[in-house]
Amino acid sequence: MDFNLGEQEKMLQAAARRFATDLVGPRAAEIDASGQFPFDLAEEMGAQGYRGLPYPVKYGGTGAGYAGYVLALEQICQASMTVGAIMAINTVPEEAVFRFGNEEQKRAFLRPLAKGELLGGIAFTEAETGSDPGLITTIARKSADGYVVTGQKQFVALAPAAKLVLVFARREGEGLNAFIVDTSSSGFIVREPCETMGLRGLGTSVVYLDDVYVPGQNLVGEEGQGFDILLEIMSIARLGVAAEAVAVSQAALELSVDYARERKARGRPIAKLPTIQWHLAEMASRIEASRWMVYRAAFLRDQGLSIRYESSLAKLFASQSAVEVTRMAMQVHGSYGAMKTMPVERLYRDAKMTEIYVGISELQRNIIASYLV
Ligand SMILES: Cc1cc2nc3c(=O)[nH]c(=O)nc-3n(C[C@H](O)[C@H](O)[C@H](O)COP(=O)(O)OP(=O)(O)OC[C@H]3O[C@@H](n4cnc5c(N)ncnc54)[C@H](O)[C@@H]3O)c2cc1C
Repeated sequence: MDFNLGEQEKMLQAAARRFATDLVGPRAAEIDASGQFPFDLAEEMGAQGYRGLPYPVKYGGTGAGYAGYVLALEQICQASMTVGAIMAINTVPEEAVFRFGNEEQKRAFLRPLAKGELLGGIAFTEAETGSDPGLITTIARKSADGYVVTGQKQFVALAPAAKLVLVFARREGEGLNAFIVDTSSSGFIVREPCETMGLRGLGTSVVYLDDVYVPGQNLVGEEGQGFDILLEIMSIARLGVAAEAVAVSQAALELSVDYARERKARGRPIAKLPTIQWHLAEMASRIEASRWMVYRAAFLRDQGLSIRYESSLAKLFASQSAVEVTRMAMQVHGSYGAMKTMPVERLYRDAKMTEIYVGISELQRNIIASYLV
């Protein structure tokens, strides 16, 4: 057993912290307030190699593995969960092509995604369901040399910026397929972004697929393999959200410690009060447990192992902890914590999103229980 970070991992973590502190942090409040997608920061993350961290250099990645990925993601999300989530969501279509794509698809799609030349999204949620892929109604009809995809997808993050979206659709009466869809295709329509409570500025939008032609070579894996692909890549999506939850919690703790040292009650810093110390200690212990769950899942993935179980454990625990930790941070800050001018209020809203998106907590419990029994 070894709980130490290697030299390369420490360097990557420090570089990501600098990037987050210098470029991301100063923009976090504005992105949240405006709800505008930060195109420039998404591009800069690509230029600095943050959009292909887990993947080999020969596929345009940085070769830092999943451990390197969560270390960097944590730093960026600590400054702005929205900006980090851009990097995490882009990793999901990358993972699909890396695990299930052929060499041609890796060259055509994974390489530009990982090099930061293209941004990719994922579209499985529909108006009727985000939890049960069996209910997906988007249809893919076979055409001469490809497919024609028709349907409506809900809550597609990065939609205004994505050049490729991994779309899940079924042939009538048959299993699910996963397609790489070029967002400039005729009939691919992005509606205006949804007004979300947290994760604002992520470009989360409704997307219409109005008879969109998809070339046959954009089918990822085999026909009917979409369900397996979705299950597998969601473990990487969950790993990302769990890291986001750790980051938002860490940010809340640091703000709370600083505030508690400065704020006075009856002439003494509130940090001296046992009740405040109780909150801080609770926060720290939950963060530490969540963090090691995330690191361990990433480590296992770097060993080539499936992390469907471990990523569900990490997402469930880290997201619930993030909601609790940010709630305690609000309490430490008193009324000032509820002010729009204080970052802790944004962290509280962002934390709640981690319990919902990329699979509700109820679904994580179902997955975990299915492994247990
Ligand atoms: C900011 C944001 C970004 C998103 N990005 C994307 C994206 O990029 N691509 C994408 O495809 N989707 C995306 N989503 C959608 C998101 O992943 C789904 O909304 C989420 O998985 C929940 O699905 P739902 O809203 O349909 O909830 P439902 O499935 O309708 O669930 C509602 C509630 O019913 C209960 N429930 C449902 N099913 C079960 C069950 N099996 N067992 C027990 N209880 C259950 C739970 O209490 C649950 O909270 C995003 C959402 C948000 C908010």
